[in-house]
Amino acid sequence: MTTAHKRFDIIIIGGGLVGASLAILLRDSDYRIVVVEAFEHDSAAQPSYDDRTVALSYGSRLILDSMGVWLQLDGRVEPILSIHISDRGHLGVTRLRHTEERVEALGYVAENRVLGEALYAQLQQQANVTLLCPARLQSVTNREDDVEAVIELDGASQTLHGKCLVAADGITSKVRECLCIGSSRQDYEQVAVITNVTPGQPHNNVAYERFTDEGPIAFLPLTNNRCSVVWTLPTGKAESIMQLDDAAFLQQLQQRFGYRLGRLQKTGVRQQYPLALVESTQLAQGRTVVVGNAAHALHPVAGQGFNLALRDIATLVDCFQLADDPGKASVLQAYQQQREHDTQRVYRFTDTLVKVFSNRFAPLAHARACGLMAVDLLPFVKHQLARQSMGLAGRQSTAGRR
Ligand SMILES: Cc1cc2nc3c(=O)[nH]c(=O)nc-3n(C[C@H](O)[C@H](O)[C@H](O)COP(=O)(O)OP(=O)(O)OC[C@H]3O[C@@H](n4cnc5c(N)ncnc54)[C@H](O)[C@@H]3O)c2cc1C
Repeated sequence: MTTAHKRFDIIIIGGGLVGASLAILLRDSDYRIVVVEAFEHDSAAQPSYDDRTVALSYGSRLILDSMGVWLQLDGRVEPILSIHISDRGHLGVTRLRHTEERVEALGYVAENRVLGEALYAQLQQQANVTLLCPARLQSVTNREDDVEAVIELDGASQTLHGKCLVAADGITSKVRECLCIGSSRQDYEQVAVITNVTPGQPHNNVAYERFTDEGPIAFLPLTNNRCSVVWTLPTGKAESIMQLDDAAFLQQLQQRFGYRLGRLQKTGVRQQYPLALVESTQLAQGRTVVVGNAAHALHPVAGQGFNLALRDIATLVDCFQLADDPGKASVLQAYQQQREHDTQRVYRFTDTLVKVFSNRFAPLAHARACGLMAVDLLPFVKHQLARQSMGLAGRQSTAGRR
């Protein structure tokens, strides 16, 4: 890959999970693409490919398959064969099973670093992609016929021209800042503490979502009989949990999660993430389109953020493929219209889960326990919940149908 071209068709700012995936989804197109990324994919400072894991829906697997990335993940992701949803201190339980949905798995769990490796292995083979890294966006200007991005690379400024610029530069997007695109922020006053643990018993590919009065705890099956843990806590409590030594941390976690997986034996590195629903006020402006965390950052309770973003960019690619000019207003409008319904549904689904299951009000706690039992007893409702979790609800992109 060289930097000979300063003129491209599509400029992607941010080569994290979403920006890198978008460039790969465009691999069969005639577009010349440049990806501008601030950190090497395997550097410790890389914010996308860090210690987290991502629960990939079955729909995301289909998209990653169409990108040629799924093959590279072979043996490095763990399937979720059933999902067990419970409410600490209440009776209701719901179980979703892959056999009932007639799919090989309800989803898969991948480590972000492993995904980063697979995405970059693919990206580096792609003839129509120029990767500029480490490089940082400085400014963006939308013009009628093109969009201009000034970046800093090797201590010098470079100007890139494109027909379309895609902002995939995360929650504090510099592109949004440059174009004065606002964002709304709803703070959940919760922090997600993530780690991985080794349980005393086999996880048997079951994902556990346990709602507690302080917030949800997810145990997701990982390779080598580890479980990826996302423990959501009130902001004030998270810091004290972060300070605990490993033994005390495991003891607290065990107390909140229970003994479904036996005694928790070992824990890995811990990291914390403050949680908020952050939405860009505009998804497109001029020749610029905003995707991934730059467009919408969600609470991780339902594991929907990257899955939603993959569906977004797969649809964006469909819209690009039909156009001679990918930055044309009609192309970006068509994209927004097609994604409106799915995005709103995921917002509602995620936000409702956070609010209903974080509420200590007794009648609501009773209602949610009844709700969990009802879901377990009503096959249609359960099927809808499973389809939503698998990322198969609603209209599918070309990549998602392959
Ligand atoms: C605790 C937690 C658990 C989660 N679990 C799940 C899950 O199970 N399933 C799921 O679907 N989603 C999950 N998510 C959401 C998922 O992590 C996000 O959807 C995903 O990281 C969004 O990727 P992105 O590429 O849009 O943004 P980011 O990951 O933030 O990447 C942005 C990229 O842009 C680069 N960048 C930033 N500024 C510049 C600049 N000026 N110039 C150049 N480059 C720049 C950064 O270096 C980075 O590489 C979880 C999130 C959290 C916090």
